[in-house]
Amino acid sequence: MSAFNQEQVLSVRHWTDSLFSFTTTRDPGFRFVSGQFTMMGLEVEGRPLLRAYSMASANHEDRLEFFSIKVPDGPLTSRLQNIREGDTVLVGRKATGTLIADNLLPGRRLLLLSTGTGLAPFASVIKDPDIYDRFEQIVLVHGCRQVAELAYGEKLVESLRADENFGELISSQLIYYPTATREPFRNRGRITDLIDSGRLFADIGQPPLDIAQDRVMLCGSPSMLADLRTSFQTHGFNEGSSNAPGHFVIEKAFVER
Ligand SMILES: Cc1cc2nc3c(=O)[nH]c(=O)nc-3n(C[C@H](O)[C@H](O)[C@H](O)COP(=O)(O)OP(=O)(O)OC[C@H]3O[C@@H](n4cnc5c(N)ncnc54)[C@H](O)[C@@H]3O)c2cc1C
Repeated sequence: MSAFNQEQVLSVRHWTDSLFSFTTTRDPGFRFVSGQFTMMGLEVEGRPLLRAYSMASANHEDRLEFFSIKVPDGPLTSRLQNIREGDTVLVGRKATGTLIADNLLPGRRLLLLSTGTGLAPFASVIKDPDIYDRFEQIVLVHGCRQVAELAYGEKLVESLRADENFGELISSQLIYYPTATREPFRNRGRITDLIDSGRLFADIGQPPLDIAQDRVMLCGSPSMLADLRTSFQTHGFNEGSSNAPGHFVIEKAFVER
């Protein structure tokens, strides 16, 4: 049996010159926990060309969703960005990853801190009702350089707020804080600075960082992750894993090659 399922593309949406998202069918046997990733890609010249991808859909949905970068000369995404409805993509049969609630100690407030396509696993997490049972407040922070790059997250939160079944839960428990670093926007600045200065909490009208209450998931560029890991460790937070739950967990949004 192949290590991959062949899934049909159901829809594609381009958000900017460098970002797009798409949905596919989902093999009923493909199980994952919201926040995990798998290998995904295309068959190129008779061979699978695959990369790690977070599921942006929640584990209860019957289709899969992915939120992707377009790297102009990237082996996969220079091709993947051209997919259309009806095309076939390869999706791994196994999912893995550290951005899952079981890797965190119990807490009251969950901070989901992301940059760029690091939003993808959190798109899955915020659609999962289980997370709203575990935490009283979820704070989703998404940082990008340009305002246009925030559009996928803005639409996602807007559609969840408008959802008949989910809307009330989201309105009372989810705080969404998009921030741009290179253009004027209602929230400005790097996530590291927003956390270290306390500005994030002041802006959202919430109490400051508190190790007794706060649990954190981080997904973004390698430099953002390195800075925030140091920052949280300075505050006494311990990194969690499947062996030992902690105060925060980390996943790279991509690897520098
Ligand atoms: C655990 C994990 C989960 C991932 N989930 C996603 C996801 O949900 N969506 C997604 O688009 N990518 C994700 N990636 C990155 C993905 O695996 C590929 O790197 C990406 O699809 C580009 O593939 P490529 O073959 O075109 O270029 P590659 O040869 O893989 O990358 C070329 C260069 O492009 C840059 N780059 C790659 N990916 C990104 C990115 N996402 N954002 C900014 N710069 C990037 C890096 O500098 C890299 O060196 C994930 C990576 C990891 C490790």
